[in-house]
Amino acid sequence: MPLKADNLKLTEVETSQGPVLVPYEVRRRKGSRYIKLSIGLRNHAVLSVPWLCPMAEAMAFLRSQGPWLEENFKQNPSRCSLTQYLEANPRLYGLGHVLRLSLELTRARPFYIYDTLRGEVEMRLRADEDREVGTVALVRAFAAEVVEKRTRELAAEHGLKIGRVSVRDQSSRWGSCSSSRTISLNWRLVLLRPNLQDHVILHELAHLTEMNHSPRFWALLRSYDPRTDQHNSQLNPAASRLMPLGRA
Ligand SMILES: [Zn+2]
Repeated sequence: MPLKADNLKLTEVETSQGPVLVPYEVRRRKGSRYIKLSIGLRNHAVLSVPWLCPMAEAMAFLRSQGPWLEENFKQNPSRCSLTQYLEANPRLYGLGHVLRLSLELTRARPFYIYDTLRGEVEMRLRADEDREVGTVALVRAFAAEVVEKRTRELAAEHGLKIGRVSVRDQSSRWGSCSSSRTISLNWRLVLLRPNLQDHVILHELAHLTEMNHSPRFWALLRSYDPRTDQHNSQLNPAASRLMPLGRA
């Protein structure tokens, strides 16, 4: 079981090892009907609770989940830490470039800068902030900038008009395209090497013309990316590796 992080509450949960103290956080959700349990970035229990659900009911649910918590706390650190992943793979991808990543600490405001010609991105995390929370926030800010830029570049290259580009934290999808021409893309695209990242963006751009996965859609996508079949087959294995990273 994990150590207690600051500002998390603790509750006693019965497990196969006897009662243990579990750090937890409660998030009230409008529009949700069921209590849901997940593991947060600090390896703590995150209890998502319907807006009007009594607290006692939520806590009773949490205390009944000992076996699930035991199982998931065990797997969690290696499964979800973006920090550990970037330590082993210190690279981000943006604007068609491979960028070597250096992560340092600062006592001032956190920031990132990148230089595609030198192939470098530098990030400074606040020294007094939780490492994983700070890393996820900076990588997401970087992704919001470069993924939108790249999407607009590729759209212009193919003479396509696009609406809003939104870079989000989808749980399993790389991207989607709405009928209002808004393109939504997963921030984890900056963890995908340039040709795969471009392939995902081109896939969504092709949906501006073909809102389906018909043979016409695939023919159009192949005209944008001649290696479509190869790239498409590489996306699922990449997703199972990258989608769990940095999840709140
Ligand atoms: Zn699609």
